[in-house]
Amino acid sequence: MKRKIQRNPADYGYPTDDIAALSQKALEVTHRLTEFYGVAPWPTKDPMSMLVDIILSHRTRDEQTAAAYDNLLKQFGSWEAVRDAPTEQVEAVISNVNWPEQKAPRLQAIMRRITEEKGSLNLDFLRDMPLEAASNWLGQLEGVGPKTNACVLLFSCRKPTLPVDVHVHRVSIRLGLIGKKVSAEAAHTLLQALLPQDAQVIYNFHKGLLRHGQRICVYERPRCKKCVLTDLCNYYQQVVLPTNVSPS
Ligand code: SF4
Repeated sequence: MKRKIQRNPADYGYPTDDIAALSQKALEVTHRLTEFYGVAPWPTKDPMSMLVDIILSHRTRDEQTAAAYDNLLKQFGSWEAVRDAPTEQVEAVISNVNWPEQKAPRLQAIMRRITEEKGSLNLDFLRDMPLEAASNWLGQLEGVGPKTNACVLLFSCRKPTLPVDVHVHRVSIRLGLIGKKVSAEAAHTLLQALLPQDAQVIYNFHKGLLRHGQRICVYERPRCKKCVLTDLCNYYQQVVLPTNVSPS
């Protein structure tokens, strides 16, 4: 099934920009960052496990998320046991992540809803659904926003849909792939429309911008001297060069 995608230049925050040129830039960025950082391995978690992982990871460091995920399985042994446990116990086991008091009941509510709808706590059926149908199914679950939705479908089902986290969002704005006022939520559709409907390319774009945002194009004082994208970057061309700011 074909996805409906917006390709109106005004949506990007650049009324006169050429969408084809932005697509070309997105592909060149993907190519250079994949060369620079290498191809990231695909995650191996099944869709249900990925959903748990992504919910735990919200505003939480990777190491803390991994520890909470491992603790849940060590303590309860299965997602069914997590679903049926007293909420205070789940909250205590994931207390190292941010907002465990919100994440524990949300996780359990989502798990109960999946079980009610599908008869078991398993999301493997998403792998066999067309992208739009799978995205709509996941999106109807309370607490599953666009990023979580895309993470599950790209990482575990290898469907061509782009997750936009804070790093992908910030680096995309600096590069000029989207305008400064485009929200992370709106960026999902706009950035995806610049990329081919190919899960590997979308994964490379996501991982490339994520790694770049964590290591070089950081929130404060991006390390532009170490960047392989200066000739493609609006921020570098329009802010760093003219003001002669010395990037680190
Ligand atoms: S040139 Fe600087 S601002 Fe632009 S992507 Fe690279 S590190 Fe980020």
